[in-house]
Amino acid sequence: MKLDSFCVKGSEDKVTTKPHVLPIYATSSFVFEDTQQGIRIFSGEEEGHKYSRYGNPTIDAVSDKLAQMAAYGTEAKVKAYMTSSGMSAIHIALTSLVQAGDAILTQGSLYGGTTELLNTVLSKSNVSSIFTDLRDLSKVEETLANNSNIKVCYFETPSNPALTVLDIEALCAICKSKGVITIADNTFCTPYLQRPIALGTDIVIHSTTKYLSGHGNSIAGAIICQEKFAYQIWNTLKLTGSTCNAWDAWLTDQGMKTLALRMDRHSSNALHLAQFLEAHPQIQKVNYPGLSSHPEHKIAAAQMSNFGGMMSFELKGDLQRGIAFMDKLKICTQAPTLGDVDTLVLHPASSSHLRVSQDMREKNGISDTLIRMSIGIESFEDIKQDIEQALS
Ligand SMILES: *Cc1c(COP(=O)(O)O)cnc(C)c1O
Repeated sequence: MKLDSFCVKGSEDKVTTKPHVLPIYATSSFVFEDTQQGIRIFSGEEEGHKYSRYGNPTIDAVSDKLAQMAAYGTEAKVKAYMTSSGMSAIHIALTSLVQAGDAILTQGSLYGGTTELLNTVLSKSNVSSIFTDLRDLSKVEETLANNSNIKVCYFETPSNPALTVLDIEALCAICKSKGVITIADNTFCTPYLQRPIALGTDIVIHSTTKYLSGHGNSIAGAIICQEKFAYQIWNTLKLTGSTCNAWDAWLTDQGMKTLALRMDRHSSNALHLAQFLEAHPQIQKVNYPGLSSHPEHKIAAAQMSNFGGMMSFELKGDLQRGIAFMDKLKICTQAPTLGDVDTLVLHPASSSHLRVSQDMREKNGISDTLIRMSIGIESFEDIKQDIEQALS
């Protein structure tokens, strides 16, 4: 072989013993031994990777782990697909199931991007969204009875940023009796704290960007579905090119190794902080499902193994008071994400919901002094002292 050809072809795979950590397969395509194998793989007669938009060993290993975590302790047959972001997971799950004329039943208190996706993107394909309080199950039954075009019920529990909790089992039973497909966004809990598949949900989506990865260094998502939805979801995913990449899948896998440790710590720090804040004279209200004062505390305790790291609270006073509190924090970081190892704070009225009218904000429990916190795994004392000094 000439030297110029050797430059192109000279690197051989030198793997002898199995690598301890999952390798990153940074390859767009895979090699067929001969034309016949190519035909067998493309026709589905033989299993085999062909092109990384269709699947890749790194991504598939992490997807499979997510599927097993979601179905843990059940007999459910599920498949998982990793996507380029949490938003693409939501988009793929919905667009693979609905068509023009269909409606999606959902709740007012949702991740902001999801509300926008429904109202500005899906609406263009003549898919409408009905926003209602999914905690009110008789209202859900009535809405389903009056709208036979509802194909999917899409929900989050606990919800963002008001931390309302839904009874997953009861909600999914009603939807199932009407032939409505259920999709849960389980980003806040992860399968370590809550497994909607075990409670009757058809499809679960995650922004793995948050707790599953946990270190704020990757953007990716996941769809975990009952097997009967697998082909249509995979087909939409592959044709829209929303597949995850091997690097972000690998980062997610690294993060998941400490998921249990992190979620335990996030949950215990958050519970202690919620109790501290609830007793503080300058706090109006604390929204945390682990508090016995939370309206759905009993439901949360029954369907979650712990209460997670997300909370929100209202200060006494006005908008300026909320902003002043945020600016005094030294350890807690102002960042528009959640689920990282460090404590993050967000003031929805001056950031994520700045463009939402005051009236709309109030209807969804987003007051001018509402602060959303993603409690990290630092020492509880440090988080508490930082909040204490910012309040004083
Ligand atoms: C962040 C988030 C999303 C969107 O995920 P991305 O990875 O940012 O696309 C969806 N749902 C919830 C609850 C989230 O927190």
